[in-house]
Amino acid sequence: MLLRARPLLARAVEALLPCACELCGAVQGRPVCAGCERDLLPDLPRCRGCALRLPRHGPEQDPGRHRCAGCRAAPADFDAAVALGDYVAPADTLVLGLKYGGRLALADWMASRLAASLRQRPEHRVPGAPQLVAAVPLGSARLAERGFNQSWEIARRLARRLRLPAHATVLTRARETRSQTALAPAGRERNVAGAFAVAPWANLDGAHVLLVDDVMTTGATLSAAALALKRAGAARVTALVALRTPAPWQRPGP
Ligand SMILES: [Zn+2]
Ligand SMILES: [Zn+2]
Repeated sequence: MLLRARPLLARAVEALLPCACELCGAVQGRPVCAGCERDLLPDLPRCRGCALRLPRHGPEQDPGRHRCAGCRAAPADFDAAVALGDYVAPADTLVLGLKYGGRLALADWMASRLAASLRQRPEHRVPGAPQLVAAVPLGSARLAERGFNQSWEIARRLARRLRLPAHATVLTRARETRSQTALAPAGRERNVAGAFAVAPWANLDGAHVLLVDDVMTTGATLSAAALALKRAGAARVTALVALRTPAPWQRPGP
């Protein structure tokens, strides 16, 4: 039934360019099949400040503002955040496939999903504000090793879909940082504090910057990057990530 309802042209293109779903292996025309999208990345209520999943009904949810207790107590330096899903198995395969497998079709898919999320959420639009898309930069050693910045690969495709300018080097690393992976939350903040700089040629006065990263864990990296953008004149920063690491109390126990 679903197949019959799909536009003929889209079906023809998919038939010509088959690929396997990254999550279930089904051979069809997209890097993530519609069934996996629906089942593994459901559209759940998320904190508008940091994209943590919110309970559907519970004390955490403030119906007026939809912000989690953490954001209400200590908001990050970005103003809003959007995530497609949680950074948990098996959805984490999507980020790992892009980052370590170089499967750029996943960046395209993430960009299209993020663009759709933004279009559904008009509160992210700032009337009259110039908008641009930036990506969290990699350190030069990691960029040389990987050969590409997965966040920029998502960001530039997102910009194309939203018809916005994007600059790969508007945000740069002012210094090398350690990998955040093994650090506790306080250590993560210290590790990235002052780590980002805005290119001197960039004019961000009053701009709304869409800041892209592949994963948000504690939000420390995105917050430090947002602070650099705001110090350079940006009026608003919206963080856009493919996946969001759940808070410790949201992760399943051992
Ligand atoms: Zn699938
Ligand atoms: Zn929050």
